[in-house]
Amino acid sequence: MKTAPEFIESIIKQKKELFVLGEKVDNPAQHPILCPSLRALAKTYELAHDDRYKDVFLRQGADGDLVNCFTSLHHSKQDLLDKVKVLRILGQETGTCFQRCVGWDALNALESTTFEMDLALGTHYHKRFMRYLRFVQKNDLVCNGAMTDVKGDRSLPPSRQADPDMYLHVVDRLPDGIVVRGAKAHQTGAIFSHEIIALPTLSMRAEDAAYAVAFAIPSDTAGVMHILGRQSCDTRKLEGSSIDVGNAMFGGHEALVIFDDVFVPTERIFLDGEWQFTRLLVERFAGYHRQSYGGCKAGVGDVLIGAAASAAEYAGVEKASHVRRKLSEMVHLNETLYSCGLSCSVAGERLASGTYLVDLLLANDCKQNVTRFPYEIARLAEDLAGGLLVTLPSEKDLNHPRIGPLIEKYLRGVPDIPTADRMRILRLIENITLGASAVSYRTESMHGAGSPEAQVIMIERLSDVEAKKALARNLAGIHHPEGSEVEGV
Ligand code: SF4
Ligand code: FE
Repeated sequence: MKTAPEFIESIIKQKKELFVLGEKVDNPAQHPILCPSLRALAKTYELAHDDRYKDVFLRQGADGDLVNCFTSLHHSKQDLLDKVKVLRILGQETGTCFQRCVGWDALNALESTTFEMDLALGTHYHKRFMRYLRFVQKNDLVCNGAMTDVKGDRSLPPSRQADPDMYLHVVDRLPDGIVVRGAKAHQTGAIFSHEIIALPTLSMRAEDAAYAVAFAIPSDTAGVMHILGRQSCDTRKLEGSSIDVGNAMFGGHEALVIFDDVFVPTERIFLDGEWQFTRLLVERFAGYHRQSYGGCKAGVGDVLIGAAASAAEYAGVEKASHVRRKLSEMVHLNETLYSCGLSCSVAGERLASGTYLVDLLLANDCKQNVTRFPYEIARLAEDLAGGLLVTLPSEKDLNHPRIGPLIEKYLRGVPDIPTADRMRILRLIENITLGASAVSYRTESMHGAGSPEAQVIMIERLSDVEAKKALARNLAGIHHPEGSEVEGV
């Protein structure tokens, strides 16, 4: 397993084509906007070497040796549970998105899907995938799970788009591989990933077979371009401040990843035209990722609750009954998210390949709650923080010889807490609710792993309403002989 410094070293060696704020960037590891993101990812390596966490961070790999859990398969319900615990711990430690889960979910979805596809269609993807998995485990790599296509006109399927490149697709076939073109949006952690694992974004039909493609390539493959997405307050990181950024150590990032006629060698292709299996692959990936949020969002929620409680304490109101009630409400919502992550894990099932899948109905319930509860927790945090959250002067003002002492005097809450500490806590709340980390805590909670309607569709499909009707009618004393009409019986 790599250590955190070895991970950073390995990323520096990669040569990606990357653009940040309209400029080409050759060393993202040293870019001030991106450094916090690299540190958050590095935490997934650091904690794997931490004795306190070895029970949940270390797993048996495909060759029987210990590997970082982020490269592992789920071999039991306990593994599924441990995953949620790991993600909560990392959310607590970083207060943001640590970006390594999408690849983990992609690996697990591909493992069982390739197994079942080979059984049904006589293809030979599973062995190929397992070879790739060993490579990922042996080198302890970060994989960017590239799922979300840009999608163009949402009313049209991939093959009927005005521009055929709105979904990633095969544009050429060579004796030793394929050539693909398209773009994946919102790619979490892409710039610091070693590998890209591309998956179809939705269930394909026969006419979209060229778009039914899954594969893995190194992130710095020729023709792959990364364009960093903006985050609210991102340029504060260029000011050299520690207070105003809110979370000076950690952050996440997303990128638009463009595949401009990229060659994929045959041994890295895991699905190519088998459109019938795209639905299974997409549903499993989405299920795992909807489970993930029950862990990471709860971990970040812990930080936000702690920050809101501190803000109340620094203002001298922590004992007020409404403050205590609001904090308890935040905890209740946050623990409900965690419970959902745990419950879909414990109700998981063994698949044909021997690995475990979360209970898909409960995983979708989990994500549906994630589209709502972080917003309510953020609202309550803003309530407890007060208006100073958005009117606070800057760190430069605080350090100014003339106005600094006045800020120190007038923005102090309780006398024994320095104004700078109060500012730090308020800026952290701002970071998570309105700033750079609101990308992952709020909007990603809404749209990541599928927008709310995607879960509603799955919940409708997976919930047996007929069985519930039968339960109700039985208790209500409504008994009709089979085949008889309801009316007139
Ligand atoms: Fe992992 Fe959560 Fe970030 Fe997604 S939002 S990559 S699940 S930390
Ligand atoms: Fe996500």
